[in-house]
Amino acid sequence: MTSKLTRRDFLSRSAAIGALGAAGGAAPIGHAAGGPPGWRGLTRVERVATNCEMCFWRCGVLAEVAHGKVLKLEGNPDHPLTKGRLCARGNAGTQLLYDPDRLKQPLLRTGARGEGQFKPISWDRALDFFAARLTELKGKYGPESVALFPHGVASTFFSTLMKAFGTPNAAEPAFAQCRGPREVGYALTFGSELGSPEPVDLEESKLIVLIGTHIGENVFTSQVTAFAEALAHGTKLIVVDPRFSTAASKADWWLPIRPGTDIALLLAWMNVLLAEGIYDKEYIAQYGLGLSELEAHVREFTPEWAEPITELPATQIRATARAMGEAKPAVALHPGRHTTWYGDDTQRARAMAILTALLGSWGRKGGIFLPTAIKTGKFPLPPFPESKRGRADGAGTTYPLASEEQGVTNGLVEATRAAKPYPIKGWVVYGQNVLESIPQREKTLEAIKQLDLLVVVDLLPVEQTRYADLVLPEATYLERYDVPAIVGSAHKPFIAIRQPVVEPLYDTKPGWWIAKQMAGRLGLEDYFPWDGPDQHLAQLVGPAGVDLDELKVRGAVAFEGRPYVENRLPDDGPLFPTQSGKIELFSPALKQLGFDPLPRYKPVTDPPLGYFRLIYGRAPVHSFARSENNALLSSLMPENEAWINRDAARDLSLSEGQEVVLENQDGRKSLPVRVRVTAGIRKDCLYMVHGFGQQSPSLHRAYQRGASDAQLTSRVAVDPLMGGTGMRVNFVRVVQNGEGV
Ligand code: SF4
Repeated sequence: MTSKLTRRDFLSRSAAIGALGAAGGAAPIGHAAGGPPGWRGLTRVERVATNCEMCFWRCGVLAEVAHGKVLKLEGNPDHPLTKGRLCARGNAGTQLLYDPDRLKQPLLRTGARGEGQFKPISWDRALDFFAARLTELKGKYGPESVALFPHGVASTFFSTLMKAFGTPNAAEPAFAQCRGPREVGYALTFGSELGSPEPVDLEESKLIVLIGTHIGENVFTSQVTAFAEALAHGTKLIVVDPRFSTAASKADWWLPIRPGTDIALLLAWMNVLLAEGIYDKEYIAQYGLGLSELEAHVREFTPEWAEPITELPATQIRATARAMGEAKPAVALHPGRHTTWYGDDTQRARAMAILTALLGSWGRKGGIFLPTAIKTGKFPLPPFPESKRGRADGAGTTYPLASEEQGVTNGLVEATRAAKPYPIKGWVVYGQNVLESIPQREKTLEAIKQLDLLVVVDLLPVEQTRYADLVLPEATYLERYDVPAIVGSAHKPFIAIRQPVVEPLYDTKPGWWIAKQMAGRLGLEDYFPWDGPDQHLAQLVGPAGVDLDELKVRGAVAFEGRPYVENRLPDDGPLFPTQSGKIELFSPALKQLGFDPLPRYKPVTDPPLGYFRLIYGRAPVHSFARSENNALLSSLMPENEAWINRDAARDLSLSEGQEVVLENQDGRKSLPVRVRVTAGIRKDCLYMVHGFGQQSPSLHRAYQRGASDAQLTSRVAVDPLMGGTGMRVNFVRVVQNGEGV
């Protein structure tokens, strides 16, 4: 009898090595970044080190503070990863802090959901209300009837609170709407997830391969710098993208692939590497499992087979495969970040991981780093209550390889709508915007209608706050302490601190304080056995040998890393913590679960006549739907545009800058958006930057500026392995006077 394998089984060995192979003591780096206070004219200026949260990359920041006000943010030169650089968003952090639209005090809903009618209340009353309603729901429906929608590092405190409360239901979009397929696909193959920041050795690579990753438009300072430096010293670049992205403009090979056919291209690349014997034979012989099955599987998937599928010339597919074979193992095949596209995304990630293995790039210079564990401490907590009813989101059951830590957001929305497997009556939302990050917003709104309690902890009055019963205004990252960044996957692993540079403005409070106060009201104080940030931080970083005072002044401390196979020490644990201890080219685990053990191309539906496939991405000056109200960033990019191919635009008589409305296959319409006519996109696609078209009138700069791709994403293709929502399955047409053009 075959035993049922769970995600936990697959990943357990990788979790185990996290505790092993800790790095040595902290090695102080550089000069004291925070340094002594200086003077600007007659003003005494303090410099306080922290890290940025204008996106999730957590670059090192030095804040110049005078008289309790932040004058300026700049990069912390002592931060080992980001080395003094901030992007435009990082520099604009002051405009989040001083945004006049910020939530300023706790708010209790007085009107109907969605109307945005509230009255201000004190924190005491707000937290008493919150605790009383949670207790009521627990008594009536059980603790599982409350679900948490967290996001980001700061959500740790709320996760602890809700686990202690007794609910297993928590889900964040970072998994099911973003990195999940990639983490599962790579963990199945190599035994380890990739994590964040992505451990890609761009600096040392001879060839970079980007598949749908638009570095330069998605800007993370250290990544974009390493990318630019690599290209400057002669690294070659292959970009696979239906759009002529910024990265494509720097490429040696731009492959404008037919959307949805990436697995066919990846199989054809493997075919060439294996047929021509230009893969890393020694590496695969030593570490690989299932080469003969892989060879037999890809034999028929020649470049000529892939040409009509991908609409890429076979000669180009062969030439790019040979370029990889030549540059191996120093090929940085970027695993991507937002990887939920077509519903077969874990299998696409598997194909990318297998290709990485054939090139011998995992754990090799110029490929993918191996993580170096950093020894950190923990507070001994009482065990969390076990739920008898289990999770409601399908993680570990409907979706066998979904992360039980990060959950399946869409699974929780569905469970709430359908009241199955049991009623969910309370949502606590922290650090995410459920109407923007989870697709099919109509379903999310229907689920919200089922709730007896919706509590939103946020910084700005975004649309979801209008549906909340209680809104709790959080202090921004410049006003609060958070769990520090502990990053092992880097040339130089490091710990970096987030600490307040000024006192919280208005009547806002840090997330840790809110969670701890709630724990006190719910009788769960034992799960928060620390007085405040200092004690919390000391317990976490003490075992790493970090001097707290030094960390607070410098912002970061670095360690020696062991990123490559040849540097590993015996106590670093197994190199490939899969079930077999090898790189699983052929996946016995997938076979056992009844899924394809080797990736297979499955055709996707093409756009109907008159429609484009909707694709979306990022702009260097905005982060998701979080920054469009920022005064500086909005002045740089106030709205998005609809990229349409120039031939398609000519056929539709559309001109540059013309304002149009988009309508999707289900009749959902966008706000008006300007057309950008360009040769830099395929004729069958329409591209928009994500995050615009916001619907909260309380956001005075962002309200109804540009169009929202999220509002046009009424369909998804769900990945059966991990529950992720493929979102590139929506089609749009241009409408004028109510008719398709
Ligand atoms: S990439 Fe930019 S926004 Fe993101 S953390 Fe770094 S400075 Fe901040």
